[in-house]
Parts: sequence; structure tokens; C-alpha cells
Amino acid sequence: MRPLRVAVVGAGPAGLYTADALRFQKQVEVLVDVLDRLPTPFGLLRYGVAPDHLKMKSLAVTLQRVLDDPGVRFLGNVVCGADVTLDELRDRYDAVVYAFGAAVDRRLGIPGEDLPGSTSATAFVSWYSGHPDRSGPACSLDHPGVAVVGVGNVAVDVARILAKPVDVLRSTDMPDDVLAALERSVVTDVHVLGRRGPAEARFTHKELRELGELDDVDVVVRPDEIALDARAEAAVASDPVLARNVELLRAWSARPPTGAARRIHLRFGLRPVEVLGPDRVVGLRVERCRVENDGTVRGTGEVEQLDVGAVLRAVGYRGTPIDGVPFDERTGTVPTDGSARVLRDGALSPGEYAVGWIMRGPTGVLGTNRADGQDAADALLADAASLRGSRAGADDDLLELLESRGVQVVSTNGWSAIDAAEVLLGGEQGRPRTKIADRDGLLAASRG
Ligand SMILES: Cc1cc2nc3c(=O)[nH]c(=O)nc-3n(C[C@H](O)[C@H](O)[C@H](O)COP(=O)(O)OP(=O)(O)OC[C@H]3O[C@@H](n4cnc5c(N)ncnc54)[C@H](O)[C@@H]3O)c2cc1C
Repeated sequence: MRPLRVAVVGAGPAGLYTADALRFQKQVEVLVDVLDRLPTPFGLLRYGVAPDHLKMKSLAVTLQRVLDDPGVRFLGNVVCGADVTLDELRDRYDAVVYAFGAAVDRRLGIPGEDLPGSTSATAFVSWYSGHPDRSGPACSLDHPGVAVVGVGNVAVDVARILAKPVDVLRSTDMPDDVLAALERSVVTDVHVLGRRGPAEARFTHKELRELGELDDVDVVVRPDEIALDARAEAAVASDPVLARNVELLRAWSARPPTGAARRIHLRFGLRPVEVLGPDRVVGLRVERCRVENDGTVRGTGEVEQLDVGAVLRAVGYRGTPIDGVPFDERTGTVPTDGSARVLRDGALSPGEYAVGWIMRGPTGVLGTNRADGQDAADALLADAASLRGSRAGADDDLLELLESRGVQVVSTNGWSAIDAAEVLLGGEQGRPRTKIADRDGLLAASRG
């Protein structure tokens, strides 16, 4: 019996875990092509997870093993929806798995948001991660104050990178220009802002605790801003992570500053109302908020002005559609039946599956995508018999079609060449790896 041919759109953790689960089982022979719009695999593991979180980054070793499998092909630098249409994929594969993530940031919707110096944490993260689509430092580092709007792990990552002494970051894979810019940075005060109280902040404990362990950095917390009302007390009492976070915040609020060179101010009950200009960010006006009994947040009219030269919003991510793929605008996800099978107009669509952030929304940790991948593989294999008969035809290789269109596809070997070039570049500087941060450079490296 001929093998089942599966295309996975997106070589992030969810896509690669799916490929792994499809190959690991022995009931059905499956050949997998993993496509990505970038010349490199690993999605937000490479371009989101903070470069100084080396243990987390080492998951790339596990995911690389998936690409090393002879039954899995990496087709990088291929934009699905542009270089190849969805119909062309569905013609050539028995099944298509959507794993294209949700990497577009949400906006604040306040005046001044588009001023130079006000941007998304996504842009800043992309910059320091050496994403090939990045442009410039994204966050001006020439003013002592930076505001980070949001109280999740991304806000914590960004605050930590801004506050950390640059020498500690030299052991990471950050591109050279990033290290040089961080070395010149005059940032001393990072203000992390949440509308609600600490019981509703979404930091995980480890990430929060790490802020208090940074060299020459004081974490500043105001006791009045972490006072809990009855509802918040109940939430904290029933959630051990929250309880530990609140305990830590209380300890910080009681600790006198040590006179460290940099400070991270964790502020609660404040919402941004206007980014101040007129030509670039010169401050952020924030309003004190209170949480009503029904859980809604109301402004109190009490305003404060923060002396900042940059505003980074870290208030969540959202998926964007690919032409021809079903998409729920309300949730920013590809709709499924709950077991990875895609729904079109509410009905099951044979041969289409979705995993990871584009199916679930931007929640969970890297490991959550592994369970998604397994679910998708289970569903696909259960459908195997019907999928084999469903393909319209077109037995030609997708690679030929892409090459006939002049797409410079980066193969598994091409990615290995990029990988080797980055390790070599790092080695010359006494670092484990230095990322190549522009698309042309990546493509040149892929050609060895
Ligand atoms: C800043 C940040 C820090 C994080 N840190 C942590 C952490 O420390 N620990 C943790 O557990 N989790 C962390 N996460 C979450 C983790 O990164 C996600 O759970 C995970 O990456 C989601 O996997 P995914 O495969 O669904 O999406 P992604 O990782 O986004 O992968 C999607 C892939 O699809 C590709 N793609 C998109 N559009 C197309 C297209 N049209 N054609 C072809 N390919 C396309 C993209 O290039 C990308 O490679 C972090 C997330 C962010 C944003």
C-alpha cells in the first residue's frame, strides 16, 4: 500500500510534534513534508522563547531529531497561501495539518499607540531573537524609562532582557547588533503594568522569581497595589501558583531598594490611556483602575504620568488567516471539532487538521503542543483509510512546483548548513552560536 502523504504547514513546535507522532507509530507508513515561511524551523522556540532560557531552548535538539528522520522533509522559505495555494497542497497530499501559529500582537487601542517608540513586545522579541523580518531595535534604548504593558510571561521576558547586564547575555545566540545595542542601552527603569491586581496576573512562578535573582537589579513593588480584595483572596487561596506569586510580591514590597543600577517596577491596577508625543514617545499616561464585583475593570479618573521613552505592549497574540483555510475571526483560530479535525462552515472537512496556537489560541507551554500533535496524529491515522482515496491527483512533487516558480526552498540539508554556519560564527566569538538575522544571509548560508 502506498504511504500516506501529509503536509504540515508550520515548522514550529506544534508542527514538528505532529510530524514526530505521525512517524513514531508503526501502523501506517506516513511521509511528512513540513513547510515553513521562514528558512529556519522551530517557530517561536527559535524566535520567541527568550535567548537566555537555555534549558527551554535546548528543546530544539529534540525537534531537530524529527527533521533528521528520512521520512520527514523540511521545505523552508515557502509561504503557504502565496508561494503555494491551499488547493495545490490538498491536491498533492492526503492530509494537511495547519500549524502556522498565532504570532501577531494585540493592540491597546489608545491615542499615541503608533508613535515612534511605541511598539509591540513581538517586534522587540523578534529583534533580539534575530528574526529575519525584524527591522531595527524596535524599542529605543536611549531613554532611562521603558513601559511594558501586560503582566504575562512575555512581559517578564522583555523586562528581564532590558534589565539584565549585557555581559550575561553574551553566552546566548543573540545577533551581534543586538548585543551591541544592549551594551549602549541607557535603560535603568522598566515599568511593567497590569490593569488588574496580582491575583489576575498570568506570570508563572519560575519566571517571576527570576526577576528577583538578576544581578544589580531591584524589583520594586508597592504594597498598596498588591492588596487583595475578598474575590482576589479567594482566587489566591485556591491556586498554589498564584499564592506563591503573591507571597513573592509581598516579600519584594517589604524589601528596601539596594541601590542597584537598574529597577523593574511591577505595577498593578493601572491601565495605559495615552502614549505621549508629539513626535516620538516622551511618556505614558496611565489611569488607576478598580475591579468591579462583576469582574470588569473601571478607570477611577486618577492619572499618573510615567517618564518613559518607549512603550512595549505585551497584551497577547492572535492568529492571522491563510487564504483558503477556515478561520474564526472572533477567536483568531482555525476551528476544529476538539480532536484536531478542522471544521468548514461547522461541518467536518476531511483531510484537514489543526494544532498548536492556531488551533488553541496563544495559551499553554511548549509541551502543550506535544499533546496537540499526538491528538492530530491519532485523528489522522484513524481517518487513514478514507484519506487515501480522497486526493484529487497531482502526483508530482511539491518541490518541483515551487522550484518552477523560482521559490528558493530551504531543504533539511539547507537548514543543517545554516545551523553549522551559525555555530561556526559563534565559535569564532567564543559563543555557542550567533544567529544570522537576515533572510539573504540565511539563504546564502543554506547554500553552504
Ligand atoms: C515571546 C514568547 C516567549 C515564549 N516563551 C516560552 C517559554 O519560555 N516556555 C514555553 O513553554 N513557551 C513559551 N512560549 C510559547 C511557545 O513559543 C508556543 O507554545 C509555541 O511556539 C507554539 O507553537 P506553534 O507551533 O503552534 O506556533 P509557532 O511556534 O508560532 O510556529 C508556527 C510556525 O508557522 C510558520 N508559518 C506561519 N505562517 C506560515 C505560512 N503562511 N506558511 C508557512 N509557514 C507559516 C511560522 O514561521 C512558524 O515557524 C513563548 C511564546 C512567545 C511568543
